Amino acid sequence: MSAAWLEEVEGLTLKGKIGVPYTWWVGEVGSRFLNGLKEEGKILGNRCPRCKKVYVPPRKNCGRCFVDNGEWVELGKTGVVMAHTVVHFEYPLQPAMPPFAYALIRLDGADVELFHMIKKDLERLRNGVRVEAVFAERRTGHILDIDSFRIVRE
Ligand SMILES: [Zn+2]
Repeated sequence: MSAAWLEEVEGLTLKGKIGVPYTWWVGEVGSRFLNGLKEEGKILGNRCPRCKKVYVPPRKNCGRCFVDNGEWVELGKTGVVMAHTVVHFEYPLQPAMPPFAYALIRLDGADVELFHMIKKDLERLRNGVRVEAVFAERRTGHILDIDSFRIVRE
């Protein structure tokens, strides 16, 4: 069968969307972290027994020492913005409506940054500013149980 007619037709594309629901087990360490947010309103990290680095979100292992992290640590709800970027354009699957900022936040007591959002007072946002976690009214065991961080002092 000849497909000669194809040579006379301009190829077109159609845009569509596929939604793929999925379930992902967050593991023992992730479960304790998310339950801490949901049930207790606490931000938990864990400490490497060798280098003493405190991770948040907590990690099963220390990536530097290759040993299991052990001791659980309750971190402060405040910290410092180490880096940020302000989002001005809406894009599918964003966790908030622009404008908002993604920020790497070094919580008090942690040795690594937590990736989260700042939604208000963006004109005051800069690296080095102190921020505080704002918990969601309804918590479900998700990183967005922390709704965002707010600037508390410049
Ligand atoms: Zn370590």
